Amino acid sequence: MVRSAVRVVLRTRPTSKFAEDCIKMNSDNRSIVLSMPKREGLGVVNHQQESYNFKFDSVQHNVGQEKMFETCGEEMVRNVLDGYNVTLLAYGQTGAGKTYTMTGGKYTQASYSQRGLVPRTISDLFNMIKAKTNTAVTVRISYAEIYNENIYDLLDPSTQPTDLVVHEDAKGGVQVKGLCYRPVASEEDALGLLFEGESNRAIGEHQLNKASSRSHTIFSLSLESRDGVEGQERVLLSKLHLVDLAGSERLSKTKSEGSVAKEAQYINKSLSFLEQVIIALGDKSRDHIPYRSSKLTHMLKDSLGGNCKTIMIANIWGESAQLEETLSTCKFAQRMTRV
Ligand code: ADP
Ligand code: MG
Repeated sequence: MVRSAVRVVLRTRPTSKFAEDCIKMNSDNRSIVLSMPKREGLGVVNHQQESYNFKFDSVQHNVGQEKMFETCGEEMVRNVLDGYNVTLLAYGQTGAGKTYTMTGGKYTQASYSQRGLVPRTISDLFNMIKAKTNTAVTVRISYAEIYNENIYDLLDPSTQPTDLVVHEDAKGGVQVKGLCYRPVASEEDALGLLFEGESNRAIGEHQLNKASSRSHTIFSLSLESRDGVEGQERVLLSKLHLVDLAGSERLSKTKSEGSVAKEAQYINKSLSFLEQVIIALGDKSRDHIPYRSSKLTHMLKDSLGGNCKTIMIANIWGESAQLEETLSTCKFAQRMTRV
C-alpha cells in the first residue's frame, strides 16, 4: 500500500441537540458524505452540488477521547521512542474541536475521561519509558505560541519574541534559540508544564488582547535516548510536536478591518504555507521545500517529510450553519491525503 506523507484523520464534533447533522460516515470508517442543507438561507453555502464525498485515512465520527488516543496517540509514542520525529497537527475552524482534541479544553475542571491527546501522550510516553529498562531517556519540553508571525515562549512569558530565533544546525536539526527546553523527569512534571503554559497563554491573551483562536501553539517533547554499554553508547535524538493550529475560518469582509484583518492575513498565509510545504514534500520532483516561508514551517522543518511521521487531524462541525467551513476543511484535508 502506498502511504501518503501525511496520515489524515477526520474527527467530527457532536452537533447540538436541535441541529441537523449533515455528515454521514460510510461503513468503511474512512469516508463521509456531506449533505448540503435543503432549505435556502441555512448556512452560507452557495452549493452547486447536493452532496460531497470525501475519503481520508480514517474517520472518527463522534468518538470519545480514548478512541482518539488509540487512533493517533499510541502510534506517535511508539514512533518517537523508535527515534522518529513526529508532528501532529489539529486543523479546522474555530469551535470545531481542535483544542478539545489536543488538550481536552479546560481539562483542569473536566473529568479525567475528557483529557485530550497531549496529556494522554505524556502519560503513555512516561509509562513506556519506565518499561524500557535498558534505555535511559531524557525528556525536555518546550511550549511555544505563534501569533502574527511572532514566537512567544509559553514557559517563560518574560522572553520577548525578538529574542526567539529559529536556528538550524549543520545536520539540519532545528531549535528555537532563546526558547526554554525544560527537562522533565515524570508525567507529573510534564503535565505541570502543560498547565503552566496554558495559564501563561491565557494571561497573555488578556494583556495583548489576542484571541487564542488566532494563534498556533506547539507543545514539543524532545527525547534523548541512550542505550548500549559504556564506551559503545548509542544516542538517539527524536521529537514530537503537538500543534493546535489557528482557526482556519475565513473572516467575513465586514469584520476584516484593522488588527483583525492583519491577524487573518497572517493566519491565512501561514496555513497556506503549511499546505504548500506538505504538498511540496509529497512531490518527488521538488527539491526546494519552502520551510522558511513561515515561522511554523521553519520550526517544524526537521519534523515534517523525509523520515518523519506526520498526522493531520481535520476537525469538523457537522451543523448546517457550519457547512461552508466544514466543506472547506474537508477539501483541505482531502488535498493532504493526495500528497
Ligand atoms: P477549537 O479549539 O477548534 O476552537 P474547541 O476545542 O474549543 O474548538 O471546541 C469548542 C467547544 O466544543 C468546546 O466547548 C468543546 O468542549 C466542545 N467540543 C469540541 N469537540 C468536542 C467533542 N468531540 N466532544 C465533546 N465536546 C466537544
Ligand atoms: Mg482552540
